[in-house]
Amino acid sequence: MQTLKHLIILGPPGSGKGTQARMIEEEFGFFFFGTGDLLRQEAESGSEIGQKFQAVWDRGKGELISNDLVDDFVVKKVKEIGLSKGIMFDGYPRTIRQAENLEKILKVIPENLIVLNIEVSAGLLIERMETRRVCSKCDKVFFRPEENGIKECNECGGKLIQRQEDSSGVISKRIEVYEQQTKPLVEFYKTHGTLVNINGNPSIDEVSKEISEKLKEILK
Ligand code: AMP
Repeated sequence: MQTLKHLIILGPPGSGKGTQARMIEEEFGFFFFGTGDLLRQEAESGSEIGQKFQAVWDRGKGELISNDLVDDFVVKKVKEIGLSKGIMFDGYPRTIRQAENLEKILKVIPENLIVLNIEVSAGLLIERMETRRVCSKCDKVFFRPEENGIKECNECGGKLIQRQEDSSGVISKRIEVYEQQTKPLVEFYKTHGTLVNINGNPSIDEVSKEISEKLKEILK
């Protein structure tokens, strides 16, 4: 059994998982495993498996990629990264099957698997997704950039785009997929991990403060 602590960030689409993950990475030094970003990179590489991911997104229905494909991909990526440092997973697991796969990969006791569950009210989620833009180069997230006078990424100068899956037709489907397939993980992690609930409704800084305080307490 590994004694390293790993982190999972759970929350519906639009809950700010990615933004918070970047802040946690900076403060606590976990290795950041951004599943969506890694899947998109693989798709852009044009590899055989990447083309299969792209085919799911091209259907434009906000569906998850199959467990078989994603599980194999994550096993391969974690092997490449190694387990010499704690990993923070954003966007994985998204189903109970994936959570069971992750248990096999990480081999940790529940105390060493910290699960941050970010809870956000439904109306706020939709508003956030509709106004979210991301940098096409570094994936940094911006909300209402035009209204704040931001025309390009303030970190790398990349172009700001709306992700295909944030278009209004896909959002409600993604929330439905979350409710049906991912939310059951909250119950699962009451016994398979150290579940920490976070109020994701306030500002990014306030949410970040709550996460930071709770993580410091657990990691001390
Ligand atoms: P994200 O950027 O995390 O919202 O992921 C974008 C898309 O990638 C999702 O809508 C899914 O189609 C796919 N995806 C990301 N993570 C997973 C996962 N753990 N299992 C299945 N599909 C995933």
